[in-house]
Amino acid sequence: MAMQRGVTIWFTGLSGSGKSTIARALEAELRQRGCQLEVLDGDIVRTNLTKGLGFSKADRDENIRRIGFVSHLLTRNGVMVLVSAISPYRNAREEVRDRIEEFVEVFVDAPLSVCEDRDVKGLYKKARAGEIKQFTGIDDPYEAPLTPEVHCHTDQQTVDESVAQIIGQLEAMGYLTPMAAVA
Ligand code: ADP
Repeated sequence: MAMQRGVTIWFTGLSGSGKSTIARALEAELRQRGCQLEVLDGDIVRTNLTKGLGFSKADRDENIRRIGFVSHLLTRNGVMVLVSAISPYRNAREEVRDRIEEFVEVFVDAPLSVCEDRDVKGLYKKARAGEIKQFTGIDDPYEAPLTPEVHCHTDQQTVDESVAQIIGQLEAMGYLTPMAAVA
């Protein structure tokens, strides 16, 4: 079997846009195909690797830098790394992209109003009430990717459609062999 090419698949978007949901569904699909992968979920990372960091720009940048560091180590050893992190600052994402090189940016996009209606973790309600400060989309910026490799509109497409879109891009970029070509 050919050596798997490592790649970091980086999900960025507002809280509640669907990053973790799509990453989990993609994980299942990739495991079925026998890929070696690792998942770095922003919320989990913040309870260990980047524990203690807050939500100032400096702390957010540091959070992304550390996730990027680990992603790079894994990627260069042939692992597929699925990162889901709001990662609101374009420069921080570009820095990680430049370091890792094998990088697929997935913009998980839904209007703020949709994310707020979903309010999966009840955080938007708290942010609107002023109980949480520096919440992305409310009182903290989100800089959308300008040229992401994949742009998912989760208010208009299903999770499965987003996964298929990402798989198609991974195939086009040579990180996955199209299923039809697997004998
Ligand atoms: P994030 O990781 O971006 O904070 P989550 O994946 O935790 O977001 O939450 C997204 C929520 O939106 C989930 O409850 C998910 O079931 C829901 N959802 C509804 N439609 C979609 C879709 N098309 N793609 C992804 N998530 C969706």
